[in-house]
Amino acid sequence: MVERLTAEGNDEHLVKAGQNTTGWVEVIAGSMFSGKSEELIRRLRRAKIARLKVQVFKPEIDVRFSRDHIVSHSEMRHESSAVRNAREILELLDPSTEVVGIDEAQFFDNDLVDVVNELAGRGVRVIVAGLDQDYTGRPFEPMPQLLAVAEYITKTHAICVRCGQPANYSQRIVEVEGQVVVGAGDAYEARCRRCFVPHADAPTRHED
Ligand SMILES: [Zn+2]
Repeated sequence: MVERLTAEGNDEHLVKAGQNTTGWVEVIAGSMFSGKSEELIRRLRRAKIARLKVQVFKPEIDVRFSRDHIVSHSEMRHESSAVRNAREILELLDPSTEVVGIDEAQFFDNDLVDVVNELAGRGVRVIVAGLDQDYTGRPFEPMPQLLAVAEYITKTHAICVRCGQPANYSQRIVEVEGQVVVGAGDAYEARCRRCFVPHADAPTRHED
C-alpha cells in the first residue's frame, strides 16, 4: 500500500516535469530476488509513456546478462549504458534528460551519493535500485547514504526459500571470497530474518 501510494505520488509529479520543477531521488532497496530491477524498469517504462527523456546506467562490473541492458530476474529489460564509476554518469548525461535510472547501486563507489544529489539539484528525477545489505547482513555502501538522501524509498522483499515468509536477506550458499560476487545468482538465496545465517565465514548448505 505504501509502495503504491509512493509510486502514484511520484507519478503525479511526472505531469509537471519540464516546467522547472525540482528533481528528487527515489531509492528501491532490497535483497536479491526481491524484484528491485523489475520495479525500476516498471517506473522507467511509465516515465517513457509520459514522454519523458530517460537515461539508464549500470556499473560496468555487472554485465552478466547484457552489456547494454538492465535485466530483471523476470526477464524484463531496459536499455542502459555501462559506466566505470559514478562520475561517468555526469559525463554521459544528455542535457535534455529528465529521468535517470541507476541499477545495482551497491557496486558503485560513494561518489554516487554526490552524483544523485547533483542530478536532483538540476531538476532530474533519479531512480536508484540496489542491494541494501551484503551476504553477511551488513549495510552495503553506498546504499545506506542513498537511503538517507532520498525523498522516496521503496523496500522490496523476496520470499524466503526455507519458510515462505517475506525475505530481507541474501544468503550466500557457496564458499566464495570477498563481499561482491557478480554473475553468481546460484550462489545466493533469499532468506527471512529467522532462516538467515549471519556468519560471514560459515556458508550454509541446502537441507534435503
Ligand atoms: Zn524463513
